[in-house]
Amino acid sequence: MRFDTKLVRLGQEPEPGTGDVVPPIHVAATYERRVQDPPRYFYGRGENPTREGLERCLAGLEEVRFAAAFASGQAAGMAALSALPRGARLVASDDVYGGTRALFGLLERQGVRVEHADLSDPAAVAAAFAEPAAMAWIETPTNPMLRIADLADVAGRAHEAGATVLVDNTFAGPALQRPLRFGADVTLYSTTKSIAGHSDVLGGALVCDDERLHREFTAYRAAAGAVPSPFDCFLVHRGLRTLALRTERQVANAARIVAALRESPYVGAVHYPGLPGHPGRRVAARQMTSPGSVLSFEYLGDAEKLMDRVRLFTCAVSLGGVLSLMEVPALMTHAGVDPGVRRALGITDRLVRVSAGIEDPADLVADLTAALRPDTEGEQTEGEQEDDR
Ligand SMILES: *Cc1c(COP(=O)(O)O)cnc(C)c1O
Repeated sequence: MRFDTKLVRLGQEPEPGTGDVVPPIHVAATYERRVQDPPRYFYGRGENPTREGLERCLAGLEEVRFAAAFASGQAAGMAALSALPRGARLVASDDVYGGTRALFGLLERQGVRVEHADLSDPAAVAAAFAEPAAMAWIETPTNPMLRIADLADVAGRAHEAGATVLVDNTFAGPALQRPLRFGADVTLYSTTKSIAGHSDVLGGALVCDDERLHREFTAYRAAAGAVPSPFDCFLVHRGLRTLALRTERQVANAARIVAALRESPYVGAVHYPGLPGHPGRRVAARQMTSPGSVLSFEYLGDAEKLMDRVRLFTCAVSLGGVLSLMEVPALMTHAGVDPGVRRALGITDRLVRVSAGIEDPADLVADLTAALRPDTEGEQTEGEQEDDR
């Protein structure tokens, strides 16, 4: 079965007995214990057929044996990190997701050493893994600067340092990038984003082929109770069925948005791995099937006012879904990041992140083009300010 077929079919087999073409949502919290022929199911926190259907699909998409679904991306992240002992060294991308930084903060309190490195820079990668590490935590493309790490190179060096390699693949999603093929040990998803795709459910997942790791993740999940509800699993799995179609449209829309931004006199740098000048373009082309649906740009006017002027784009955090969203990382997703760190990463107050949805591209471009033009009264672009001097 090819990828697009698996999306629609895996873990959604018609129900034996009734022939329902969509399996029912199994809501039971506990299962009858029969002495003769005891069932595989014992208690809802440990096992649930609706959750298992979703997990079969997620594992199959990456051609491995195991996937564990969680209540959120954060819960999946905590499960992946929970086994790190005191004193363990964790090396992570420098512009990781804001919530991941918060998670790392919890671990540091328990004595885990967290170090950040620019994993899009081969020299920084070599330096970071010159000494032993317990885990590598990679994001590519990064958020919100869209830097690209070479997965095969980072995974190779991290393994030499003795690390378990985890890739937070939420940004690209499994349709655009499958990190386990490039040597990663674990893929993490916030299924809240492109996998569920409709901004109506939270979820997470850890996908791997290593039975020992998978057992660790599910043992943590059962002990900590970080389980997704059966209804949430149904929603995530239902969204997943259209991932390929949605992604295709979102990527096409992102390309149209990028083209409009590059023509605008009110826009500075545009960050998108599909652009000719992007430093990670060649690596992205090797490990991703397309440059994706998320991009960021430097607005030359007041970014907060731009958020007020857009009509169709919704100003909100999150990404990868059917709705086109826009946000100002310095004020929203990365507001909690130390201002100095933010500056070093290039996250200015004028940086705007866009997640392309599936609306008609002509409507998106018209909305954006109109909104980019600053109000004549009381708002100036950087260029106009310079003219005044
Ligand atoms: C949203 C997100 C998470 C956290 O997922 P939740 O489902 O919100 O808990 C982790 N990593 C990345 C890259 C994300 O975008």
